[in-house]
Amino acid sequence: MNITTDPNLRSWVDSANDAHTDFPIQNLPFGVFTRRSADARRIGVAIGDQVLDCHELVSRGLLADTCSTAACAALASERLNDFLGLGADTWHEVRAALCAILRDETPALKDDPEARDACLVPRDVVTMHLPMDVGDYTDFYASLHHATNVGSMFRPDNPLLPNWKHLPVGYHGRASSLVVSGAPITRPTGQTVPADGADPVFGPVRLLDYELEVAFVVGAGNELGSRIAIEDSRRHLFGVMLMNDWSARDVQKWEYQPLGPFNSKNFATTLSPWIVPLEALEPFMIDGPPRSDEDPANLDYLNWADDFGVDLTLTVEISSARMRETGTKPTLVSTGNYSDMYWTMSQMLAHHTSTGCPMSPGDVYASGTVSGVSEDSRGCLLERTWRGQHPITLADGTERKFLQDGDEVLITGFCEREGARRIGFGACSGVVVPTREPVTA
Ligand code: MN
Repeated sequence: MNITTDPNLRSWVDSANDAHTDFPIQNLPFGVFTRRSADARRIGVAIGDQVLDCHELVSRGLLADTCSTAACAALASERLNDFLGLGADTWHEVRAALCAILRDETPALKDDPEARDACLVPRDVVTMHLPMDVGDYTDFYASLHHATNVGSMFRPDNPLLPNWKHLPVGYHGRASSLVVSGAPITRPTGQTVPADGADPVFGPVRLLDYELEVAFVVGAGNELGSRIAIEDSRRHLFGVMLMNDWSARDVQKWEYQPLGPFNSKNFATTLSPWIVPLEALEPFMIDGPPRSDEDPANLDYLNWADDFGVDLTLTVEISSARMRETGTKPTLVSTGNYSDMYWTMSQMLAHHTSTGCPMSPGDVYASGTVSGVSEDSRGCLLERTWRGQHPITLADGTERKFLQDGDEVLITGFCEREGARRIGFGACSGVVVPTREPVTA
């Protein structure tokens, strides 16, 4: 049993003991924040309704006895990359140290009001930033239900291509347009075909969609030419975030053959601000996804007896601008679970690096849209409305086939089971704003 996930642990930060908080002491997710806009960025850990300031902890020598000099230097920096690069033993050492400082029995901060006030900041006054510089970002397509649904719309005779059950299909995405939760999403312009056989036109995209996804943060990387074996994946993977892969379906339909998505996916991808460490997810890890008798056996490099999924419930809510103005609750449009995926995070990492493709600390790869069997578990509007044929109705009475300007998409996630403390992921949200005019330099 890992002491840091013991459900009986309590923190002297009272709000961390609330039954419904996303951030009990068993979670301890990492992020990067500023108190005021002019401040330097700092690494922080969410605890209840507070953020624990790692820079301040290091300055006060509160980690000197428990963490290495390299770990302390990395935690005092402005981004998580150095910490991520130090590897799994350091992540564990730091997590254990933070857990010890925050637990009820430890007086160091608890009984020192001056230090406590300096090290804790209310979460609702800080500004969150992307927690690391992301060098490279990749998106997979790991849900059988999503791939089959989308495939049957675009290629009715041939929904699932022959490679799909043999390898995790993915594409290289665009790190430059990754944004943190809360950043506005400008409706992109693009080239689309208004109807089959018509001439292409250019303008604001009409079929703007979200994709409910889970993103994985790489810690220790691998050198060019070397690869990460599937059974070693846990030592390279630091943690998990929520992600919205905003997508322009009208652009996608026209551009995707023969080389896959391009402009339909490169205008914005939202990440939640907190990285939940894999260590915090251990109580919620389940066996790797089952295979049916008709499914092909995994090739050896994708096979691992200890492979795992995560029982992670995910929800998508939408609110129109009017709903937010009138204080109307957002409309729940789907509830899914990450455990429905066909390919695991370890298989994706092993496959991605199987050529010797290098990963660096802070690289991100994502699961692809998380969809399950049932209609209400479909993780994007394309599937949820079946390409606009069955619009959904929001709480203000308006219908949606795809997103309108002013719409906010809010993704949340949590893990819960008997005998473990519930942990959450915080929010991954963005509001769609109108297309902008071209920039003249
Ligand atoms: Mn995607």
